[in-house]
Amino acid sequence: MPHTTASSPADPGVPAAGHRRVLLSAWASAAEDVDDLPLAARLWDQVPDAAGASGRARAALLTGDPAGGLAVLEAVGAADVPDDGPRSFDHVVALACRAALGRADELARLVAVGGVLPASVRLSYLYALGAAADAAGQRGVADEAWRAVVVEHGVRTPYVLSRFLAAWVQGRDRTDARAAAVRVLEAAHELAAAVPPPWEDALAAEGVVAELVRRGDGAGAALLATAVARTGPRSEVLDALAARHAPRRAVAPRVVPVVVAVAAAVASVALLAHAYAGVAVGALAVAAARRWWRPVVDMTLVDGRVWDGLSALRYDDRLGRARDGASHVRLIPSLLTVAGLVAGWSAAGWWVAAPAGLGQRVPDAVEAVVFAMLFLGVPGAALWGGIRLDRLRHRRAAGRRRAATEAAEQGQVATCRCWQGTAVTGRFARGYASEHLVPSAGPPVEVGRGAALRACPLSGMRWLVTTSPSGASTVLLRGPAPAPAAAAAGDGGSGYL
Ligand SMILES: [Zn+2]
Repeated sequence: MPHTTASSPADPGVPAAGHRRVLLSAWASAAEDVDDLPLAARLWDQVPDAAGASGRARAALLTGDPAGGLAVLEAVGAADVPDDGPRSFDHVVALACRAALGRADELARLVAVGGVLPASVRLSYLYALGAAADAAGQRGVADEAWRAVVVEHGVRTPYVLSRFLAAWVQGRDRTDARAAAVRVLEAAHELAAAVPPPWEDALAAEGVVAELVRRGDGAGAALLATAVARTGPRSEVLDALAARHAPRRAVAPRVVPVVVAVAAAVASVALLAHAYAGVAVGALAVAAARRWWRPVVDMTLVDGRVWDGLSALRYDDRLGRARDGASHVRLIPSLLTVAGLVAGWSAAGWWVAAPAGLGQRVPDAVEAVVFAMLFLGVPGAALWGGIRLDRLRHRRAAGRRRAATEAAEQGQVATCRCWQGTAVTGRFARGYASEHLVPSAGPPVEVGRGAALRACPLSGMRWLVTTSPSGASTVLLRGPAPAPAAAAAGDGGSGYL
């Protein structure tokens, strides 16, 4: 949630930078900008003024504790909303907290407020509305709010993506497997385009899956987890996520049609002296099973088909995208197999047929074993070696591409971009912290995770370096620039609307 109440470095009312409260407020606001709410709450806890209380209330509302949020606002006298409408954003949060606690009249007021709020607080309002409507059981309103946050405001944080994409996956076509698969893959691609991508930090993917489970759509959770794991580079965390939610495959729909087909063919040969009728019956049995028999336990027929399609996908390092696992011929294994067949069979032929061949001078059992090894073993070994060689080649090529990408990024991370955003996440953040920022002294900060203080050598801005909630990726939060003390010390309190 973007901050709406804390001072920003551009405000004329910022007190002397370096002041602990100003630093903490800026970091807390930056944590809200990337929706790292536990971190924001932890930082706001250490800000002993009205801005701290506002921040704590917002974080409590968004993390599913509206009663706690309301209590914070009541303690600072910001919970009473005038009859003619909210005067501050704290009042909007108070409305949202009461709505989340089940007050339908407060939800109605909250919705009505949306039409008159200034554009500057529109995004924050959508967060409050989404959280309140979700808790109040108005899922349609909540889904629309999160959709607006993503589509209109371009927010791509794990918190927002998990809610938006869960609704997207849940709204998949229930009658057309192809349309449903496209929708699930779109959600997986949206996650892959986020920073950091799921194979670097699975937080957002895990969030969508957890949200789908919470909504009672276990099949959707399984489909999305598989789509994410199959359409990106290998990741043990994503594989484990997919395995945790993988449904049980039904055995009967695959075995019974084959048994019927074989039985029909045998009966056909025995009774009619030809196999045509049996083959026709068998084909009908296979087609009927595919059409009407659910392939996956606990999934509808359509979801089961989507699952079949998604599970067949394999990520191709060389192409940098997923493709159907069954539809490719590899050059190196094919060539080596042909070479193995030629060499093995020629040698086998020589072994048994050459007049002066060794085959005639050894016992029959030894001759047969050597023949089998030459006839089957040599082509088999050639195929196996070809596949290994192909994989090794692809892995090396992928490693070279990764190294090239990282080298290109390395050139960018040393350049100052401290003017650009309040927070940086992902792989770029890690490089930026070590290559551009330098160690800095500052007040002790308690964030519940590893944290360090670094500063921009150009502007003097102080950054808090910590990790995402999963611990898998780096998060940088920008502090204010060191500036001379301004004339008026703003309290950073509730920004009046
Ligand atoms: Zn800088």
